Amino acid sequence: MFKNASSLAVAALAATTLFSAVSIASAQEQVNLYSARHYQTDEGMYEAFTRTTGIKINRVDADDAGILARLKAEGAASPADVILLVDAARLASADAQGMFQPIKSKVLDTAIPANLRASPTADGVTWTGFSTRARVVVYDPARVKATDVDTYEKLADPKLKGLLCTRSGSHPYNLSLFSTVVERLGDAKGEEWLKGVVANMARAPKGGDTDQIKAVASGECGVALTNTYYVARLIKSDKIDDKAVMQKVKVMFPNQATTGTHVNIAGAAVAKHAKNTANAVKFMEFLSSPFAQDYFANGNNEFPASKGVTVNNPAIAAMGGANFKSETIPLGVVAKNQVKVQQMLDRVGYK
Ligand code: FE
Repeated sequence: MFKNASSLAVAALAATTLFSAVSIASAQEQVNLYSARHYQTDEGMYEAFTRTTGIKINRVDADDAGILARLKAEGAASPADVILLVDAARLASADAQGMFQPIKSKVLDTAIPANLRASPTADGVTWTGFSTRARVVVYDPARVKATDVDTYEKLADPKLKGLLCTRSGSHPYNLSLFSTVVERLGDAKGEEWLKGVVANMARAPKGGDTDQIKAVASGECGVALTNTYYVARLIKSDKIDDKAVMQKVKVMFPNQATTGTHVNIAGAAVAKHAKNTANAVKFMEFLSSPFAQDYFANGNNEFPASKGVTVNNPAIAAMGGANFKSETIPLGVVAKNQVKVQQMLDRVGYK
């Protein structure tokens, strides 16, 4: 897939160069999109954008790390106009490496809550979240009481010794969550919390979020952390094994009585060296529309980021709906805390 993507980008770059060299006034308007999202349901959304604006989308699909490596390698010659990534930690890291440019858009200012975007500067805002996902607790009700896992703080309680499973602490999903916990508790208590979490591990961190859910169902773990869309995928699955998993586990949205459940984003930014900047902004604004939000959020069982937009998704309804209390710490804070939290993870031995 990466090979294909790579030739696509070269073709897009060649086309851009050719067009500017001969100044074809009638050249079709286009926007070059580098996307870490690869959901079939996004296709209809892209087609609708081209239909309504006349702007053609040239898309390069790769995973987040692949996209960032590629942008680095291409430098100022990069044909990328819009970059779509998942998780604020990744967006913030790309931003810190100078891969984005700030934009000003009244449409985005109005549609997307400020805490789901990069911190604004006089030049505008770099990245913007277009869907949200919550980082929730999954537990085995036969071994663990709901009241023992109803906050992130309790994950460090010795009551849960030998029961906790997570993927790598350095994975962006965990780094982002831990960054907000440290922001709330302060550095000393935050690190103490991480130490307690490590002390409660049932096994060394490994696998992805779905593996943690399955390990709770199999009895290897009693409590785990996962993003909501992985739960939704299992809820929607036709496989007998997946159905059995969901019968064994329960989902807890932590901190409902206090600071709210941690939410993260999938988001986008205009590339630093974008050649089609106006089209890139138009595409970003389109993503915030109720129509696109339905595709964007529903396609991966996420929640819409735009204010006032709701989606109808039975799997999300089965998890208790989208009306839970969300944490309000600006995701821009993640950027500030990331390096510090990684150093804490190293100190407390969180693999
Ligand atoms: Fe994921």
